[in-house]
Amino acid sequence: MDCIPVCPTGSIDEWRVVAQPYSLENQYEWDELPEQEEDVVIAEGASDSKDGNAALDNQTIDPIQALLAEAHSGAGGKSVAPATATKPTVNFYNLGNPVEAVVQGNYRLTSEDSDSDVRHIVIDFQGKPFPALEGQSVGIIAPGTTSDGKAHLPRLYSVSSPRDGEREGYHNVSLTVKRESDGVCSNYLCDLEIGQRIQVTGPFGATFLMPNDPAARLLMICTGTGSAPMRSFTMARQRLYGDQGKAMTLFFGARTPDSLPYFGPLQKLPSALMQKHLVYSRSPDREKEYVQDRMRSESAVVTELLLDSNTYVYICGLKEMEAGVEAALHDIASDAGRDWHGLRTVMREEGRFHVETY
Ligand code: FAD
Repeated sequence: MDCIPVCPTGSIDEWRVVAQPYSLENQYEWDELPEQEEDVVIAEGASDSKDGNAALDNQTIDPIQALLAEAHSGAGGKSVAPATATKPTVNFYNLGNPVEAVVQGNYRLTSEDSDSDVRHIVIDFQGKPFPALEGQSVGIIAPGTTSDGKAHLPRLYSVSSPRDGEREGYHNVSLTVKRESDGVCSNYLCDLEIGQRIQVTGPFGATFLMPNDPAARLLMICTGTGSAPMRSFTMARQRLYGDQGKAMTLFFGARTPDSLPYFGPLQKLPSALMQKHLVYSRSPDREKEYVQDRMRSESAVVTELLLDSNTYVYICGLKEMEAGVEAALHDIASDAGRDWHGLRTVMREEGRFHVETY
């Protein structure tokens, strides 16, 4: 097996869409699929599985759509992709037709002392196409069955590598996975060893995408593994634009520095490329601070970005972060004399406001 060494702690350069979520009950009542995400390339034959079991495929697509709709519901309405974003391919592989990938690397990103075990996992599709864009997700199917004997549903994981691969030109994909206690898929992924083969579906998601525009300004707000798409955006912009791209602004929250994924590479990023606000809620030598607290104390920075029609906002991480970040954005916009809901609607309709929380 051809193993490519990857060093995630090296420098960074090595660094639909519905208003309401669908419940599982809703999904089982559907006779046909809900409206697809717009402006996507849906892989040809995607709903015809290899074994011709279309019903299996319908069950496969629906839960993915439901997961994404739920994840994007915090945007407060229908999001669209940035106008300049590359047209995404979705559902290239599905449960009836997954692709096999080989594990190339599995690195712990958080310190051994940290109670948070987050992994940087690199998978390779062995020459098969996997056209994932930054901000899209993959579906991972854990082996085995549920207690009632059914196959596990795929879990979604954001890609944390750019479109041309974790290693430029290799088209391999990296994931940033947090081990959840007793979680089926996260434990499976975090325990993977180099050379093991896994079943992957996707890519999925057609709106949480980056603008293809060096002059675009990115305001990225994340916690924990919500850093995955932000890493992919950052690496892609570095590769595409070098130092010609506008500086990005990052608000990134974790409990402690040693539980903040990609802490090392992030520290090395020059401020001309990214203005970083790393924020800790459980650091013994600092006052408790959440991302929304820092956004408020840096309200001048946030205001200036929000009022610029060239700014694209991305919020990603745990569901719990949504309310605090939303309240901070509301208050910051109000202090600047703007109606946040109106501004957010405009930004969303222009593909400039994106939320993905889980
Ligand atoms: P599950 O088995 O689904 O369990 C989830 C939790 O419920 C666990 O903590 C488990 O202990 C608890 N639980 C399970 N069964 C029971 C029970 N019977 N009683 C009580 N508690 C129970 N995650 C990442 O790490 N990185 C990412 O980049 C990422 N991106 C995502 C992107 C999207 C769009 C979405 C929707 C989700 C994303 N996730 C990501 C979350 C990921 O998909 C999984 O939900 C997560 O890894 C947990 O899956 P699991 O199979 O390990 O846990």
